[in-house]
Amino acid sequence: MARRKLIYEGKAKILYDGPEPGTYVQYFKDDATAFNAGKKDVIEGKGVLNNRLSEFFMNGLQQIGVPTHFIKRLNMREQLIRQCEIIPLEVIVRNYAAGTMAKRLGMEEGTQLPRPIVEFSYKDDSLGDPLVPEEYIAAFGWASQQDLDDIVSIALKVNDFISGVMYGVGIKLVDFKIEIGRVWDNDFQRLVVADEISPDSCRLWDIETGRKLDKDVFRRDLGDLADAYTEVAKRLGVLPTNTAQMPKPTLIN
Ligand code: 5GP
Repeated sequence: MARRKLIYEGKAKILYDGPEPGTYVQYFKDDATAFNAGKKDVIEGKGVLNNRLSEFFMNGLQQIGVPTHFIKRLNMREQLIRQCEIIPLEVIVRNYAAGTMAKRLGMEEGTQLPRPIVEFSYKDDSLGDPLVPEEYIAAFGWASQQDLDDIVSIALKVNDFISGVMYGVGIKLVDFKIEIGRVWDNDFQRLVVADEISPDSCRLWDIETGRKLDKDVFRRDLGDLADAYTEVAKRLGVLPTNTAQMPKPTLIN
């Protein structure tokens, strides 16, 4: 296969130049990181699961009219996406208190919020992705006020969609993070959901048992991460079997 041009390597994914102008290939790694890469491991099968799950969510969003960067899945670990200019914000939607919100406000994890809350962090690993008010975003020109209004509207639609889909398979969507990109059609800008939507970037709790089915399993040493992600994929009908536990090929001498 021809060598591809590497565009960017992040903690969990790699971007390569795509086969057509305006496209990238997004490769999902098995690497898991937490606490700004302070904790690292390789979780066999995670990349395959996240590729499938992100495909599932992005396709679903497109079906209900929320534009995304996703074009198609190419193979087990790669998907074709539209190039876009990533807005340097983590857009977080919360339905229940957990993680940094619970800590910041001294709330018990799992407390239902009066309504979904959208918040923004400035994407900068060296600063630990600090929470920023909308005032900063507009003043520093990371996004215009109009963009921000559109981003909140997109984020709430994504929340409604994923919450509903998850509720249907007995899972509570506690919170999630998305990234938004700008796509240019000549001078006309469109905002699209970019990056990935997977248990790496959501908090997902089993409604009956409260079992965590997301990256907190890794962050908090709660068990096998691939098992948790496989459970989500199975319930959604995305994976018929557990690829994470498929036997490895054996060497024949
Ligand atoms: P928290 O602010 O409580 O740490 O995270 C809120 C939600 O956003 C969680 O679902 C978490 O997984 C997601 N999130 C926040 N920051 C990041 C990040 O840097 N990477 C990923 N993959 N998800 C994040």
